[in-house]
Amino acid sequence: MNTLTQIHTDIDARVQAIRDDNLDWLCGLGCDGCCHRLAEIPRLTAAEWDWLREGLAALPPEQLREIGQNIAALAKQSSRPIICPLLDQSAGACKVYVHRPVACRTYGFYVQRDQGLYCKDIESRVAGGSWAEVVWGNQDAVDHRLSGLGETCDLTEWFADWKPNEDMT
Ligand code: SF4
Repeated sequence: MNTLTQIHTDIDARVQAIRDDNLDWLCGLGCDGCCHRLAEIPRLTAAEWDWLREGLAALPPEQLREIGQNIAALAKQSSRPIICPLLDQSAGACKVYVHRPVACRTYGFYVQRDQGLYCKDIESRVAGGSWAEVVWGNQDAVDHRLSGLGETCDLTEWFADWKPNEDMT
């Protein structure tokens, strides 16, 4: 099975295995480093957007409005890195954590070395001799599975085409 739910389940199992062996693992609530320095606007498959939309539709209206303003500003921003428009910056937490995209679930645990996409904080700990038993996941394999889950667009594009009222009725 290669549904989004199955991909989530497989990633969660791998992540949990790493966490079980590394109680001081950095990636989790309290660390929002990657959400603060995204290399690009998040890209999501149609299945990921459908799931994220559910999380967005469940937010209080003022939070959704704020996210809409953040996303509109982001669409015009050319400088990089960027701060994720779904991050609650005062709390340092994701507003849609349960519904977050796959890239957010894998970032601290999976590697795409060619593109330099992995957590440098964790990498430096591993290079320094901590967590020697860590086996990084292969992000390319995850991306291959995601490629079967519909078209991929920037978050800004999905959001611009979304009619929230249709998901809230
Ligand atoms: S969607 Fe959530 S977890 Fe992912 S980068 Fe944005 S704030 Fe962070």
